[in-house]
Amino acid sequence: MLNCNEVTHLASDHLDKSLNWKESFSLRMHIAMCKHCKRFIHHLRLTRLCVHGMNNNLASPDDVKHVLDNLPDTNKP
Ligand SMILES: [Zn+2]
Repeated sequence: MLNCNEVTHLASDHLDKSLNWKESFSLRMHIAMCKHCKRFIHHLRLTRLCVHGMNNNLASPDDVKHVLDNLPDTNKP
């Protein structure tokens, strides 16, 4: 069975579903019994979802130009 250090090294590949069946089985057995690694993988998954969500919500250059063009002119009396 994997130890905690090995699980942290395989965690990203686990989330990418790129582990072979033996690695995947060993990792799943470990996180079934280790609350620390289970929590680590859960937080890694959440972090990846947040980063992915942030990347999809970036404003395009056209969006930025539209906002800047429509800002109120503060130099008007
Ligand atoms: Zn562990």
